[in-house]
Amino acid sequence: MKTAIIGGGAAAFFASINIKEHFPNSEVVLFEKTSKLLSKVLVSGGGRCNVTNSETSTSRFSKSYPRGEKQLKKLFNTFCNQDTINWFESRGVKIVSEEDGRMFPKSNTSQTIYDLFISETERLGIKIQLKSGVNSIKQEEEKINLEVNGHNLLFDKVIVCTGGSPQSEGFNWIKSLGHKIENPVPSLFTFNIPNEKITQLMGLSVPEASVSIQSTKLKHKGALLITHWGMSGPAVLKLSSFGARILSDKEYDFNINISWCGESNFEELREYFQSVIKENTKKKLFKIRPFNFPKRLWSYLLERSELVEEKPWGELGKKQLNKLIQIICNDTYHVKGKTTFKEEFVTCGGISLESINIKTMESKHVKNLYFAGEILDIDGVTGGFNFQAAWTTSFIASKLK
Ligand SMILES: Cc1cc2nc3c(=O)[nH]c(=O)nc-3n(C[C@H](O)[C@H](O)[C@H](O)COP(=O)(O)OP(=O)(O)OC[C@H]3O[C@@H](n4cnc5c(N)ncnc54)[C@H](O)[C@@H]3O)c2cc1C
Repeated sequence: MKTAIIGGGAAAFFASINIKEHFPNSEVVLFEKTSKLLSKVLVSGGGRCNVTNSETSTSRFSKSYPRGEKQLKKLFNTFCNQDTINWFESRGVKIVSEEDGRMFPKSNTSQTIYDLFISETERLGIKIQLKSGVNSIKQEEEKINLEVNGHNLLFDKVIVCTGGSPQSEGFNWIKSLGHKIENPVPSLFTFNIPNEKITQLMGLSVPEASVSIQSTKLKHKGALLITHWGMSGPAVLKLSSFGARILSDKEYDFNINISWCGESNFEELREYFQSVIKENTKKKLFKIRPFNFPKRLWSYLLERSELVEEKPWGELGKKQLNKLIQIICNDTYHVKGKTTFKEEFVTCGGISLESINIKTMESKHVKNLYFAGEILDIDGVTGGFNFQAAWTTSFIASKLK
């Protein structure tokens, strides 16, 4: 059996190594269009490669994928995070977990993952051809014909692992074979909030904010980080991921509402503040910081509510209190534009899961053609979920069923 793997990234390496494990006598050739292998693996996770996440429930794990949740939930029964850990550890790479669930090689460098993949391909005799972009795929009876650098080559099986493409034209060669393409748009970005004083608080992080996007159902709770261009942090990144398509349709021009104290509503806050006032009548507003707000944030929220810091709590009028509560639980900002998060981005969209047999990753349109990795319309939030999707889909594709 002769198999071609198109691409030289995470999914391509994982697929080719696993094919040789499943079919030791097969011939495997990997075609990478550039002169570099595993470029994203090397820069991933800030150069540490966040290979997976330690979440133990597959149901909760799959909830981290705005696209592909339902399908991955089933696939994780075959290959999930623990299988990833076992896969790397059985090959001598220890994987360790951080407090927030992200998992990295113990060496703390993605070079370890790169070196393992390269040494495994050498050990297993996988052929690697660089500067070999595949331009077209044709079915020829039971075989598949690939056009590589002007040459036509025949293979029994082919796995396409060419990653995401920011432009829909990047998928034309796959679309022409009958596959449905979900329009690609970026996911995982931070919000630009130009001309707002809030950016003066850059570097400040609020642990339990809740952010929602006006006129949508999109809402996420979590840490919120103020940056010099706007807002970032887990709450914003999750919104950008779950709202990738809606926010693209809005051309990244929308309003957000922020509750700086999590989920408490107006009435609950009114009760809370009435007791704060009762206990601190003579104390000045700046002295008592509700919800342990950082000092700079509390000063900013008071100013935004048009309140003087020196005012005693007991002198707060009803209207003034209402305004303060409104700012704390329903502060509004205008987002205009987005910024890539630490250069880490993934594509929302790609080959529709309707076009493939999800149990095998085989195309429904071309026999013996398979897909794995970010080329699929599957993507997750940050935390190791995107690599896990690449490992899972390429492991299943490598069974060549
Ligand atoms: C800066 C950055 C940091 C990241 N950090 C993390 C992280 O820590 N954890 C995490 O889970 N996810 C992370 N991600 C996301 C993760 O890297 C990707 O989801 C994952 O690499 C996708 O793997 P892939 O093999 O499907 O695609 P890719 O890694 O994009 O590989 C595709 C390969 O195919 C080649 N190719 C394309 N077209 C052709 C063609 N026609 N012929 C031949 N070759 C072709 C490309 O040149 C490329 O080498 C990060 C992404 C970025 C950009």
